[in-house]
Amino acid sequence: MTRDPADKLRLLRERLATISDLGAASLTLTWDRQTYMPEGGVQGRAEQLATLNRLAHEMLVSEETGGLLDALRDPDPGTDDGALVRVARRDHERATKLPSRLVEELSRSRSLAEPAWARARAESDWDAFAPHLEKLLALRRESAEYLGYEDHPYDAMLDLFEPGAKKRRLETMFEELKAGTLPLLRGISGAANRNGRGRDAPLHGDFDEARQEEFGAAMITAFGYDWSRGRQDRTVHPFCVGINPGDVRITTRFDPQWLSPALFATFHEAGHAMYEQGIDQTFFRTPLDRGASMGMHESQSRLWENLVGRSHAFWSHYYPRLQETFPGPLGTVDLETFYQAINAVEPSEIRVEADEMTYNLHILLRFELEVALFEDSLSVAEMPAAWNAGMEEYLGVTPENDARGVLQDIHWSAGLFGYFPTYTIGNVLSVQLFETAVEDEPRIPEEIGNGEFGTLLGWLREKVHRHGRKYDPEDLIQATTGRPLDTAPYLKYLKTKFGALYDLNR
Ligand code: ZN
Repeated sequence: MTRDPADKLRLLRERLATISDLGAASLTLTWDRQTYMPEGGVQGRAEQLATLNRLAHEMLVSEETGGLLDALRDPDPGTDDGALVRVARRDHERATKLPSRLVEELSRSRSLAEPAWARARAESDWDAFAPHLEKLLALRRESAEYLGYEDHPYDAMLDLFEPGAKKRRLETMFEELKAGTLPLLRGISGAANRNGRGRDAPLHGDFDEARQEEFGAAMITAFGYDWSRGRQDRTVHPFCVGINPGDVRITTRFDPQWLSPALFATFHEAGHAMYEQGIDQTFFRTPLDRGASMGMHESQSRLWENLVGRSHAFWSHYYPRLQETFPGPLGTVDLETFYQAINAVEPSEIRVEADEMTYNLHILLRFELEVALFEDSLSVAEMPAAWNAGMEEYLGVTPENDARGVLQDIHWSAGLFGYFPTYTIGNVLSVQLFETAVEDEPRIPEEIGNGEFGTLLGWLREKVHRHGRKYDPEDLIQATTGRPLDTAPYLKYLKTKFGALYDLNR
């Protein structure tokens, strides 16, 4: 039986819509597990999620899906339909390349490794985690062979999170960042030693949780987060979950003695969420209805968290309101002191607490270790020593123990290799995008100073958000900014901002 291409496209869309529904249901159940589910639900929920994921996977790899994709071989690449077929084919091929034995083994090893990592971290015991990491590494290396790559097996890992990213190009990016950041950091450390440390002291004190929540919500409302298509709940680790562009939820956590974690996590997650809320409505229930890549996603969260949320212009407008909200701890702290506090540079052992200046050095270290593991030039047993040496070299810090060092992040216990670099891609890209937005719309900085964000959000919607996953990240960056990913704007931004903050240009 032959059908015309329009018919086949319709059938493909129907299948993809079902796969998308199963995915959305599983995201909703995951959100519930992390927010309100009683503990007794753990086992049942694991089964429900496994069932939904299995059904979605089976539909994606099925011969029917493959047959429809084959029949729709040469779609017009510039159109939405063309992009739909291209992205669906990539998902299908990726899912069919891995033998189901390997998929199952990975999933089982991950579920064993995560609790083992949590225990190992609690006891700062690398040896207890090492066998799990060895197993996951072996499985991931095997996956890389099945997935395929041109240059380096690590590229196959990168491609899972950042389509088209290559180890070789990332090495250049990190070299540039290192060369640009380390001298600045040394200058700042010298200045901090002269002027005394503890710049962030004003952020510690009594910050009532309910008031923190109210203030954060007011700020992201001003940014343009749409509460009719989202909500905010509390979890141990903040996250954003885009169930579909009509339902994009965020979470945060509050520390009643420390203002920054919840405030900036709220800005950050809202940045992720506004990206998904801005995706073209016609992409609903297709594989295009999410972000282009992890790096592109992180560029949106970082843009709102840092370029807006840690800027002088933003606080020149909103700081009086923050002072009114927290008259106790901030009543006598002036704007300049507050601005210095939220931008204090302090090399530390913990990535998630790192400032804009040191953050990428934490990622660089993880990237180098991952590549060395994939090249077999580093063994799992040697990692704690290599970690500490890298921390000393880049940040001048020696972790107190492995719990605060090589064991601090959950990613490796989930078998996520190649994920960390997307954080740095996001940082670099956030400035490149912001700079282009300001070139196109020069009134943006002044608007931010007036507490207005419509022009900025509108630009992001038009240039980035609405396209969802229609374009690969590299093509989207080129089309939006006129050039490939570029560290120059980012380094210039750091130099200007922190040069002024630390009086380095005298
Ligand atoms: Zn993020």
